[in-house]
Amino acid sequence: MTDAALTPLTPEQSEIQRMARDFARNELAPHAAAWDRDSYFEPTLTPRLGALGFLGMLLPEAYDGLGLDALTYLLALEEIAAADASAAVLMSVHNSLPTQMILRFGSEAQRERWLPPMARGELLGAFALSEPDAGSDAAALRTQAVRDGDHWVLTGTKAWVTNGNHAGVIVAMARTDTPELRRGGRGISAFIVTPDLPGFAVGKKENKLGLRASPTVQLNFDQLRVPADRLLGEEGQGFVYAMQSLEHGRLGIAAQAVGIARRALELATAYASERKQFGTPIHDFQAIQFKLADMATKVTAARAVLHAAAAMKDRGESPGAYASMAKLLASEAAMWVTTQAIQIYGGYGYTTEFDVERLFRDAKVTEIYEGTSEIQRIVIARSLTHR
Ligand SMILES: Cc1cc2nc3c(=O)[nH]c(=O)nc-3n(C[C@H](O)[C@H](O)[C@H](O)COP(=O)(O)OP(=O)(O)OC[C@H]3O[C@@H](n4cnc5c(N)ncnc54)[C@H](O)[C@@H]3O)c2cc1C
Repeated sequence: MTDAALTPLTPEQSEIQRMARDFARNELAPHAAAWDRDSYFEPTLTPRLGALGFLGMLLPEAYDGLGLDALTYLLALEEIAAADASAAVLMSVHNSLPTQMILRFGSEAQRERWLPPMARGELLGAFALSEPDAGSDAAALRTQAVRDGDHWVLTGTKAWVTNGNHAGVIVAMARTDTPELRRGGRGISAFIVTPDLPGFAVGKKENKLGLRASPTVQLNFDQLRVPADRLLGEEGQGFVYAMQSLEHGRLGIAAQAVGIARRALELATAYASERKQFGTPIHDFQAIQFKLADMATKVTAARAVLHAAAAMKDRGESPGAYASMAKLLASEAAMWVTTQAIQIYGGYGYTTEFDVERLFRDAKVTEIYEGTSEIQRIVIARSLTHR
């Protein structure tokens, strides 16, 4: 009941959901706690996800993708997140950001060169927008790109790059306006960066509260020489491309949050039946029943809004503020539901012995990345007044 979509799924959607669930339960769940404890990135994860087609879910078959609709992709992502939220963010970033940016805004030559190996899991993708001093205000980024003959030369530091130290392709945003004439977001371009380019270095790796099996690193570009044909789309449009892609990326983060919350609900429900106090399972106490009821309601509501936003995308409409609503609702549900799960586990939930502790830590970041909850509220509020 807790993993049910409210609208009927097609046979293909059910089949992909089942494949993802089997992979998540058999290949991720048994290792998730150890990978988290050791901050370990499992190197075979990318090729294995690629072999299943999960790194090209939204790419056309012409580029070795599965050519699936957004809803199917999000169903699979929820399953992966329920087992291992770190694997889910790898999948979400790769599918929603670098591959989609190359597909939507790249030239045919760029698509043919980069997308098939990305879909097959031979090249992991990353997205480098944020900088140490440019987070919510990403248009304030400072990495500078200067044209030099048939190259662009990039200098600066990108921060918080998920997959950054394992990525074969990084879509990085840098300024192509001049310090004398700043053009805000219109002065930013997108580049296809690869780690073999001279001047590329991986910097500090973050030691995080949660998502510890997902590497988050700084990237240092020191006179990084990027061939001119790696400019993605038009000069000066990179920020617009990034914002449009983030709108879709937020659906992925919402699915990740739903997966985390659902798993916490499943675990808490089972625990409440097993744990006895005062001679009876704690599930018999109405205080616990009401918590579980509220948890189930929030998970279901978050998933319903997410699926409605995905359906808009699949109809060819832009989900706009609905993507922000889905992310806001799902991430706050994940944080609340995982908090309640720990409460239901009592002291045991506060130890690393039980998965609800990891789920609680993993939930937090869904309120922060790809736009904080405050930024989602700004987007939603703006949609109410700017019609
Ligand atoms: C684990 C992890 C992975 C990440 N992966 C990536 C990645 O792959 N690529 C990438 O480019 N970035 C990535 N990020 C960066 C992420 O997108 C930023 O952390 C996020 O956008 C917030 O920016 P910030 O951390 O600089 O916070 P700040 O922008 O400094 O915000 C601090 C606080 O101020 C609030 N605030 C800011 N502006 C406003 C406002 N106008 N109104 C109200 N409140 C406001 C924020 O909501 C927040 O509460 C990742 C971050 C994390 C933690």
